[in-house]
Amino acid sequence: MKIAFIGLGNMGGPMATNLVAKGFVVKGFDIVAANLDKAAERGVVAARSAVSAVKDADIVITMVPAGQHVLDLYRTILLPARRGTLFIDCSTIDVASAREAHAMAQGAGMQSLDAPVSGGTAGAAGATLTFMAGGDAEAFERAHPVLSAMGKRIVHCGGAGAGQAAKICNNMILGVSMIAVSEAFVLAEKLGLEATALYDVASAASGQCWSLTSYCPVPGVGPASPADNDYRSGFAAALMLKDLALAQQAAAAAGAATPLGAHAEQLYRSFIAAGGAEKDFSAIIRYLAETPRD
Ligand code: NAD
Repeated sequence: MKIAFIGLGNMGGPMATNLVAKGFVVKGFDIVAANLDKAAERGVVAARSAVSAVKDADIVITMVPAGQHVLDLYRTILLPARRGTLFIDCSTIDVASAREAHAMAQGAGMQSLDAPVSGGTAGAAGATLTFMAGGDAEAFERAHPVLSAMGKRIVHCGGAGAGQAAKICNNMILGVSMIAVSEAFVLAEKLGLEATALYDVASAASGQCWSLTSYCPVPGVGPASPADNDYRSGFAAALMLKDLALAQQAAAAAGAATPLGAHAEQLYRSFIAAGGAEKDFSAIIRYLAETPRD
């Protein structure tokens, strides 16, 4: 099976390499020559353009920054691809653009799937990503062996755009819950309550959640997390803001009231304006600790 892989950045590079390692023939393209060269060193066949990458492909995977990139690419690569090719977009993009990409692909006689991921760069490197897929059952079945070569959990969430919807809803929970956990630790400190005492109580009580027990924002509390490494690596605050903004965009379009999601977006925007973009998103606890109560 021949795969075209477009967008060989922090995520796409290692994902394409994993496909090569599992025996797929992968033709790759990236507009940044250094990213293309790096993938080529690991067995990806370097194409001169996106068009040349897709020409004889059975499956086309895109992993680019945003919806506009996906739509621009689809305008260029749908025509030269063979009819019936399966187009899988793994980028995290807005639901409306994802649905438009599906419509464009179907209109050109292709199969299509939106399949954003969670698991970050470590998941991409270790082939342990979770894929959240949207599209019809036939496209999902066809994509499954390829997605399995890059991830460990592949979930069919529903029709066109359902994968993107699942991704932003999950990450809205994550952003809001990380802020809630962080606020609780900031308040506890001001009340003279030890962080470990709050952890011991809340981790086994009704305040329990992933942000607390698997990814505690306080250094030295709970299992190892980016907080123990000065909030380096992990999931960058800038990417959390991107996902919260996509959730708000979708909520506005769908007429859903998401007041806490909206507030979480504002707080991450302020944190990033204060220099937090590259830090892990759990570093919002430091920002909250320094924010005066008005
Ligand atoms: P990145 O910026 O490292 O990689 C994107 C790549 O796409 C770049 O190499 C860029 O040159 C290339 N590109 C852009 N337009 C192109 C075009 N027209 N043709 C060919 N190549 C093109 O970003 P990333 O971290 O790899 O993220 C990719 C997607 O995955 C984003 O949508 C992001 O939100 C999502 N995501 C990232 C993470 C993460 O931890 N980095 C986790 C989950 C999801």
